[in-house]
Order: sequence, then structure tokens, then C-alpha cells
Amino acid sequence: MSANIPQTGQKRIVIVGGGFAGLQLAQRLKRSNYQIVLLDKNNYHQFPPLIYQIATAGLNPSAISFPLRKLFAGRKNLYFRLGELRAIFPEQKYIQTSIGKLSYDYLVLACGATTNFFHNADIADKAMPMKTVAEAMGLRNALLSNFERALTCATEEERQELLNVVIVGGGPSGVEIAGAIAEMRRYVLPRDYPDLDASRMHIHLIEGSSKLLSAMSPQSSKQALEFLQRLNVEVALNTLVQDYRDRTVYLSDGRTIPSLTFIWVGGVCGVPLTGLPAASFGRGGRLIVNRYHEVKDCHDIYAIGDIALMEGDAAYPKGHPMMAQPAIQQGFNLSCNFLAIQQQQARTPFAYKDLGSMATIGRNLAVADIGRMHFGGFVAWFLWMAVHLRSILGVHNKLAVLLEWTWSYFTYDRSNRMIVRAKLPAVLQERRERENRTHWGDIKPPQDSASAEQNKPID
Ligand SMILES: Cc1cc2nc3c(=O)[nH]c(=O)nc-3n(C[C@H](O)[C@H](O)[C@H](O)COP(=O)(O)OP(=O)(O)OC[C@H]3O[C@@H](n4cnc5c(N)ncnc54)[C@H](O)[C@@H]3O)c2cc1C
Repeated sequence: MSANIPQTGQKRIVIVGGGFAGLQLAQRLKRSNYQIVLLDKNNYHQFPPLIYQIATAGLNPSAISFPLRKLFAGRKNLYFRLGELRAIFPEQKYIQTSIGKLSYDYLVLACGATTNFFHNADIADKAMPMKTVAEAMGLRNALLSNFERALTCATEEERQELLNVVIVGGGPSGVEIAGAIAEMRRYVLPRDYPDLDASRMHIHLIEGSSKLLSAMSPQSSKQALEFLQRLNVEVALNTLVQDYRDRTVYLSDGRTIPSLTFIWVGGVCGVPLTGLPAASFGRGGRLIVNRYHEVKDCHDIYAIGDIALMEGDAAYPKGHPMMAQPAIQQGFNLSCNFLAIQQQQARTPFAYKDLGSMATIGRNLAVADIGRMHFGGFVAWFLWMAVHLRSILGVHNKLAVLLEWTWSYFTYDRSNRMIVRAKLPAVLQERRERENRTHWGDIKPPQDSASAEQNKPID
């Protein structure tokens, strides 16, 4: 198998990852004189800030996903390939992918972050992460199936296990999913399951530090806690999850919570990469880059977005926040620099412009920090909706989300409550397994050089 990209004499930029960073770069270069190859393991761009709404039946996956091919239809210098990066061979300037070998003049790694389980095998094996649309669908199925089973299970103990929800991580994802599940308990459960006692459903949010939303202002942290308590979410601060086994969560304060819904949004680290020197990796398995996005100790390899840990920005000594805006702005800056290289002009060092951050907890309940200003409650909630609606790709998706939000605001309903279990036809399943085994071809994978830093937590 081969990636099948023609040699056109143009310099080839291979971008791995069509998330916020990679997509911004590819879109900005689509009219340039470079040959752009965008590789992604999915054929769509996803909008992670609304993933929790998929998990809680508020939105359909198609509303926050956009086909990558559609974005580049008709562009002759841009090639999209559905495939997964397997290894990088920096000396020979090519990458090995699930669809074959791909050579590059410049390689841009924009492959984002993945869930960090901090080496706890029990947790990694059994917890439900919520990083991708597919994982959010799995979570939605689990939540809804557990409600169904709670009606028919044999014992009270089992019913409690099915109704207890434990969420680990008090960052924006944890706060948002906790609020959304609390709203399901309040508005959906009594209507759909009148013979189930909704008050028996306990939602626990566990956070290791002393506050929620630690990257936001103290007012936002405090207000998020108040809002969650108002929704009857049981928040435990300064508490660590030590293990999850036998359907029980073990906490550092000695408590145990029996639960079949154990959601892990407790940390992220850079996606594992094979073939780069150990010195290129920093804290949390992110790639150390300079202000021109060049990866340390590599030649013609760049990293942008969540995977990049930029050194040299005095205001962000631990790198930029792993959020959409830094990713988009880095993609934009790198595109300008690639154009500058072609025009033999000076490149611009990256400077991050903080546009603020926000999190929503529930209906009319959100927090937002914009510059020195803090907003809470309805105003923040309205701002949150406007910003997210504006950022979703595609007019059709914007309208779909607006319609769903308006509908559920007035009806208190969440209309996507189907338990959908995907089943691949046998022939496709067989091919997928075969692909996973092969495509190293005649080459050996380089030694895995990800440094020991890979799984250290990110502050
Ligand atoms: C649940 C959730 C909620 C969030 N909420 C917010 C929010 O409200 N506001 C905010 O600013 N940020 C939020 N974020 C963070 C934000 O989504 C990320 O910071 C942003 O997506 C980073 O962009 P990126 O381009 O670096 O990576 P991503 O957007 O993650 O894109 C990475 C791309 O690389 C592809 N990829 C990965 N590995 C490979 C491989 N080996 N081969 C090929 N392709 C690969 C993936 O398929 C993906 O398309 C949230 C994140 C999550 C998970």
C-alpha cells in the first residue's frame, strides 16, 4: 500500500492531524505554492468543546464533526489521506503510516493530546475517557444502558452501582460533564424512567487540587463549585483516586464508591510518537518547540497545538494552555512563516494572544474570564453559547446545534437518547485487524524514544 501522492516539484509539507492547529495551517496554505498532505486517522474534524454534549445526549455526533475532504474539495495542491502515523524517520525525512511510507520536505506534527492515566493499568483498562467523539458515544451508550439496567437488575447494591456516576478531574471537561449529567438526572430521568427513583442517582466529581477550574480566576473556581452544588453534584476537592477495581472507586480519603460509570477526565499528555530523539520531549510527553514551532533537536520538523510545548515565551514558562485558541493561533503563525520562507522573508516568532476562557455548568449557569473581567451565571452562559456557536465549522452544523439548543432550552429535553452500538461488517473488521498488523513493510520501527517525561502530569 502507498500514500500515492504525486511528485510535483513543489516542496511538500506533511501535516499530521486535522484538529484545530493542523486544519488552520492547511486552510491557510491551500492556495500556496507548497504541496500539502494532510494525514488524519479520522476523516473528519471534530469540535472537542462540545463533546460532553454528545456524551449526555444533547447533540448528535454529526453536529460537531466536519468531513475533512469537503473542506478541501477542488484544491489541486492539497491531498487528504486517511491514515495513522506510526513512526517518524527524521534522518531519511519520511514517516511510516498505516497506509505506507510518506516522504516530506517539512513535517508538521499537529496530532494533539490523549488521555493520561498516569500509569494506572486498572484505571486505563476500565475507566471511560471522553477525548473523542467515539469515546463520547461510548459514554452515552453506557449511561443510557445503565439507566435501563437499573430498572431490571436483581439487587439494590447492583442498582446503586448502576446509578452512581464518578467523574475524575475538576477541569473544564469534568465540570461540564458533571453539570450536564446532573441536568439529565433532573429533567430526563423523572420523565423517561418514572419507576426509577432519581434521588438515588449520585454524581461525584473528584478533584486532586484545592479548587475546580484551576486555570481560571479564583471567582470562576468558586462560582463553578457553587453552581455544581446547586445541581446536587457531590464535589470532593483535595482528593485523589487511587484505584478502580471490582466496580469500586478507591479514594485517597479512605472512601470507596461503587460505580459502573467511572469517567476519567483527569489529565492529558501528548500523543505517543515513535522515532524522535528523547531530548525532543518535555513534560507530559509534549514536543519542545522554539518560538518558530521547530521541534528541539530535529530538522524541518515542527509541532503545533496541544502536542507542542513552547519554550521562550516568558508569560507561559510551562507552555501555552492546551486549548483551542493557542492551537489555532500557532497554526496561523506557522502558515505565515511557511509563506515567508518561500518569499525569503524573515519569520515571525509566535506570540500568544489570550482571548479568555469559559466553562458551562448547566442551564443559565456558566463562568467566563475575559481579560481582567469575570462573568458568571446567565451572561457567561450566553457568551459561552455565542462563542461556541461561532466557532463550530460549517453553516449546517451551526444551525443544527442552534436548533438542538433552542429545542432543549424550551422543552428541557435531550433528544438524542438512542443506544447505538456500531458493528463493523466482518470483512471490514478483518481488514482493520490486518492493517494493524502490517504496513511496516520492509522497514523496522525505530526505537521508541519517547522520554520518561511522557506520562508526567501536566499542571
Ligand atoms: C472534552 C474536551 C473539551 C474541551 N473543551 C475545550 C474548550 O471548551 N475550550 C478550549 O479552548 N479547548 C477545549 N478543549 C481543548 C481543545 O479541544 C484542544 O486544545 C484542541 O483541540 C487542540 O487542538 P490540536 O489541533 O492540537 O489537537 P486536536 O484538536 O486534538 O487534533 C488532533 C488531530 O490529530 C489526529 N491524530 C492524532 N493522532 C494521530 C495519528 N497518530 N495519526 C494521524 N492522525 C492523528 C486526531 O484524529 C485529530 O484530528 C477540550 C478538549 C476536550 C477533549
